[in-house]
Amino acid sequence: PLAYVNGEFEDLENAKVDALDRGFIYGDGLYEVVAIYGGKLYQIDEHLERYKNGAEEMLFENYPAPEEIKKISHELLEKSGIKEGIIYLEVTRGTAPRKHSFPEPQKPNLFMFAKEAPRPDAEFKNNGIKTILVPDERWNRCNVKSINLLPNCFYKEKANREGAYEAIQVHRLGVTEGTSTNVFGVKDGVVYTAPTGQRILPGITRDTILKLADRIGIKVVEKFLSPEELYNCDEVFISSTTIKILPVKQIDQVTFPVSDYKTTFVLQEELEKYTLENR
Ligand code: PLP
Repeated sequence: PLAYVNGEFEDLENAKVDALDRGFIYGDGLYEVVAIYGGKLYQIDEHLERYKNGAEEMLFENYPAPEEIKKISHELLEKSGIKEGIIYLEVTRGTAPRKHSFPEPQKPNLFMFAKEAPRPDAEFKNNGIKTILVPDERWNRCNVKSINLLPNCFYKEKANREGAYEAIQVHRLGVTEGTSTNVFGVKDGVVYTAPTGQRILPGITRDTILKLADRIGIKVVEKFLSPEELYNCDEVFISSTTIKILPVKQIDQVTFPVSDYKTTFVLQEELEKYTLENR
């Protein structure tokens, strides 16, 4: 894997950041994961738009412009020769003496790398994954793609220890999202997913799925489902940049008949086609 740190390209193994980087000290940083398909960057403008929104909301100053990150992404792509993989990018509020309030002036650090990444197993794509419900204990700005991922890591680990692939978080408002995925339920042909706002990350894949559903005449309702409503759905699936759409075959002790799924597989195929056409 090839990395980029503040102007220098180097092997990821050799890449170093400062111990006083505010990302390391406070988790004071933002990140994005962009997919590389067929040697091309997929939906990079959408990811950079979300990055910019997060940087503005978190009062970052002098942060790298989306156009600059895009240029470096293309360089990473070219220099690494990666055809199927991801570009990870992280911007922190910079290296500064340890003090909670922001440094003056802010001098953000940019760290990126490109690496090959396998697509999820056909087994998961076709036959589904197991999930568990967990409490959503995150702060109220989940729309910001912050590098503070301790709750997400904690509950992903819990899921894995219980033989599940993903943990689905439940806030007092209802079901929000997975630890690194958005969550959808289908009942009587209608697709339900949590609304954007402060409780979920506005997934790029989620957004594409909603557009595709609209285009092919599948009704979508954005609302927080209760856990009972989710258990009672005919179909459940999750989405993200790296996994696209995976059907859910189990939530806690409740099983779902993936072999009878219709809407999920229609959307999975539409998304696959869309990806090939738009990379
Ligand atoms: N929700 C969370 C908490 C995530 O971390 C991610 C991706 O990392 C997603 C949803 C899916 O977003 P996207 O489709 O933009 O990859």
